[in-house]
Amino acid sequence: MKCSHCYADNQSFATICAKCGQAILRLEVCPMGHLLPPGEQDCPICPSMWPEVDSFAGPPLLRGFLLVESGRLTGSQDPVAALTYLEVRDQEIPLALAPLHSGAVSLVDEDDDKIECRILMRPNGISVCQRDQMKKQKAPSVYEPLLPGEKFDLGGVSLRYHEVVPPAWARKLAGCL
Ligand SMILES: [Zn+2]
Ligand SMILES: [Zn+2]
Repeated sequence: MKCSHCYADNQSFATICAKCGQAILRLEVCPMGHLLPPGEQDCPICPSMWPEVDSFAGPPLLRGFLLVESGRLTGSQDPVAALTYLEVRDQEIPLALAPLHSGAVSLVDEDDDKIECRILMRPNGISVCQRDQMKKQKAPSVYEPLLPGEKFDLGGVSLRYHEVVPPAWARKLAGCL
């Protein structure tokens, strides 16, 4: 138990700090070090955290498509026209998706507060991070790799990854060969 006055470590049963003599409040932190509200077991911050991603400055090579298998996907610019696929390119900022209502999902801006899913494309593959997994695990989640041919679901919309291998000249241009 850490003393909230001097931060000294005390025995877990201590009620008075052995170092400074102040009464010890029960300060509890989650595994990530966030302070928990008194009496709470669940961290209020962890479920809202998205994993950090490495920076990337390479060319936006096309790596594949996310094909809409069921449900309705719309773009951020035109919320009316349904998309049949999303292009997946190497890029710094992950694609962000937010559910509209059951069976409908929209591509949204990076800073949208309704984002439920982020899709990261990098030369070593595509990976997906979903907020509801973070809530279930009550801890910051990770980007899970999505293999060619695999699909994932978000709000009743299924997206299947169809990989495209960039031609050799394009990879050479991008410095990958
Ligand atoms: Zn103390
Ligand atoms: Zn936490």
